[in-house]
Amino acid sequence: MQMQRSVKDKVSYEGIGLHTGKKVTVTLKPAPVNYGIVFVRVDLPSSPSIKVKASKVVSNERGTSIGEGRVRITTVEHILAALSGLRINNVIIKMDGEEFPAGDGSALPWVRLIQRAGIVEQPAPCRFLKIEKPFWIEENGKRLIILPDEEFKITYTVDFPESPLKSQFAEFVINEENFIREIAPSRTFGFMKEVEKLKKKGLVQGGSLDNAVVIDDKGVVNEKGLRFPNEPVRHKILDLIGDLYLLGRPIKAHVIAVKAGHLFHVRLAQKLEKLMEDDRGVCLDIRDIEKILPHRYPFLLVDKILSLGEGEIVGVKNVTVNEPFFSGHFPGHPVVPAALIVEAMAQVAGVYLLNKSENQGKLAYFAGIDKARFRRPVVPGDQLITKVKILILKKKTGKVEAVGTVNGKVVAEANFLFSLVER
Ligand SMILES: [Zn+2]
Repeated sequence: MQMQRSVKDKVSYEGIGLHTGKKVTVTLKPAPVNYGIVFVRVDLPSSPSIKVKASKVVSNERGTSIGEGRVRITTVEHILAALSGLRINNVIIKMDGEEFPAGDGSALPWVRLIQRAGIVEQPAPCRFLKIEKPFWIEENGKRLIILPDEEFKITYTVDFPESPLKSQFAEFVINEENFIREIAPSRTFGFMKEVEKLKKKGLVQGGSLDNAVVIDDKGVVNEKGLRFPNEPVRHKILDLIGDLYLLGRPIKAHVIAVKAGHLFHVRLAQKLEKLMEDDRGVCLDIRDIEKILPHRYPFLLVDKILSLGEGEIVGVKNVTVNEPFFSGHFPGHPVVPAALIVEAMAQVAGVYLLNKSENQGKLAYFAGIDKARFRRPVVPGDQLITKVKILILKKKTGKVEAVGTVNGKVVAEANFLFSLVER
């Protein structure tokens, strides 16, 4: 199982924004589990912060900008791409200006900055957004298609018939290694004819051949040429990775883009964010649980984990009339045996204990039950919600307090002692 990640140390980077041309210092700082990506404008009164979300995008003209109230953070896509590529889930990003520095126009400066800070694995599993069924958005020949996949894959096609670039195609599995080697070095690109227009609009004030690839009618203007023959389409992939990380959560899906851009990328991210909010609450699904607990039908008695934090976990067992024990307990009067309520509550605790990186692969045996009380019967149709508080957790033992409720009413409570053993 992949754990959440943050940066290890505080690091800073200084540079000039592509559009504003203004000097900005950016500082990355470690953040706790489930914190997300949070930008802080330290140059403004009371240092307002903005947590990254696709619904906070305020502009996507030549770059992606997010905002809340009057606070703006602009050109966020390259640093977000680097955070996605290096699988950083939680980080505080302080900046003393509005726009992120352009660096060399690629995501490499951010990759190097994160590497300089170091990366730490955190004691909580990383949540992915899994796409269950395909969907797409389409307009004027531009397309974004998203398909279910076990990995994060991007296929991208661009077409500039009027320029020497013509059509370019690229396809990558986006993992850490591929991101660093194949995607991160590709730079922003622009067409000479557009540069003057953009400058008049007040954009690309900080743009130069040091932070962008410029293409005129004859080809690439930059003296050293391109870093990859298809660098422009690779940069589009970089932008898409960054824009999708507005979700703050990695995705497992295959995204196919045809002549898309920030506007389209952000629309997809916003659609995904809605999907994500609809399934809010499901922290671990049954497939995740089966990777942690050795129990299987008919003895796996936890269906999903609603939340998993430091020292506590909440899990659910949906009781149906089809449970095998109802035929005998009791015929014509189905009631969940108290011993199985205890087992269901203990399994929620088991997910917490066995999910810890140091306990992976171990088994948790019952070593004792204290203060067990059964307040109400649990019957078919009930949703048993177990809240577990970890009281003691040592290398070989654990002690927890568990409370089971149905419709907000306590049905059972107990303290459990576990011993943790190697298989
Ligand atoms: Zn870009």
